[in-house]
Amino acid sequence: MSECIFCNIINKELPSSVVFENDKVLGFKDIDPSAKVHLLFIHKNHSENVNDMVRTDATQVSDVYQAIEQYTAGNSLAADGFRVVTNIGKHGRQDVFHTHFHVLGGEKLTGNLGN
Ligand code: 5GP
Ligand code: ZN
Repeated sequence: MSECIFCNIINKELPSSVVFENDKVLGFKDIDPSAKVHLLFIHKNHSENVNDMVRTDATQVSDVYQAIEQYTAGNSLAADGFRVVTNIGKHGRQDVFHTHFHVLGGEKLTGNLGN
């Protein structure tokens, strides 16, 4: 087992509800959803946050966004709209230090982006 829970989810050592997978990216349901649809998209290569990801290999950001585009284009999310959020560090309220992109939708979200 890795110390990183999302690496364990990638390796299938921890269970998750997978909605998308290719050789680089995994998309799965958030365990504690904040909207009717709340998914997490992660790269299979570990990085701590999106700034760390960009410094390590910026193409990983497009790998994840291409996966989000492919997934959402195949269902009502793209037609109805959705939100992509990535939290960084303490003030960003990041709890899991494997870069992840929240995909939120399935209903009209609140206008609150911060406090
Ligand atoms: P953060 O606050 O780091 O941006 O978001 C972490 C997200 O991961 C939270 O929305 C939380 O519900 C989700 N999460 C934490 N542990 C697990 C887990 O073991 N499985 C799944 N599917 N989601 C998790
Ligand atoms: Zn990890």
